Amino acid sequence: MTNQEKLDAIMEKMAKDYRKLNATQQAFAIKEIARVRGDIADLLADFAADDGTIKRQRLSRLLRELTEIEDLVRDYGVTAIDAIIKETAGFTTTAVSAGLAATVGAKALTSAQMERVNRDIFEYVVKRFGDDGLVLSDRVWRLSGDMRDELSKVLRADILRGEAVSTMIANIRQVHDNETWKIRRLVVTEGNTAYRTATAMNASRSDVVTAVRVHRGAANRPEHRCTQLEREDRYGMGAGLYLPSDREIYNMHVNCTGYLTYGLNEDYL
Ligand SMILES: [Zn+2]
Repeated sequence: MTNQEKLDAIMEKMAKDYRKLNATQQAFAIKEIARVRGDIADLLADFAADDGTIKRQRLSRLLRELTEIEDLVRDYGVTAIDAIIKETAGFTTTAVSAGLAATVGAKALTSAQMERVNRDIFEYVVKRFGDDGLVLSDRVWRLSGDMRDELSKVLRADILRGEAVSTMIANIRQVHDNETWKIRRLVVTEGNTAYRTATAMNASRSDVVTAVRVHRGAANRPEHRCTQLEREDRYGMGAGLYLPSDREIYNMHVNCTGYLTYGLNEDYL
């Protein structure tokens, strides 16, 4: 087995491990954002009359209080996604450093070097503008705004119908379940972007890696940018091979699970 083949095998395994980690990150973000259900239950309890309903005279006041709930969703969401990006950067940097040490005997990064590269990865991911013209925190804000809109609709209808607070709480749970796919999409998109950015930024700092290879996501759709990039020979190095500084491969499209592996410098093959 050549060094390149050994490294390819290590990086394929790493990509598989990251897919598993991303699944736990999705569950974590969903759970963190769901904490707001407790805050909403407290709010409804404050507004409830003795008969367990909320009087319609209090409706507009309650809907205004949802601003606070929206802020909480945003706080829980931003805190969770920041933790996910940091975790992904740490996971990737540690794994590629170990992989390069095990195959070509590259010197493992010191903890200070790891900290620096992980900080750069985090900064890049939270500050990048997507095709939607938004940065990451804007996307979390949009999510919290959507959730507020849905909550308003449900609470307004329930209060006008004279439903009990217990029914409202069940209906709110439904709102959260309906919004879950948006949280998943956000964590897939941003987590995988952090994963690819971390892979590429570590390659930029390495003397033994000259290129990164694009592997399309599982969807394998011809119209997906990752599938096109896997086939393109942009630098005359071969199809799918890119300079680590080419930022298009960090985020190929929304919900992309494509990943990168390394092309070794020919002295180390
Ligand atoms: Zn893709």
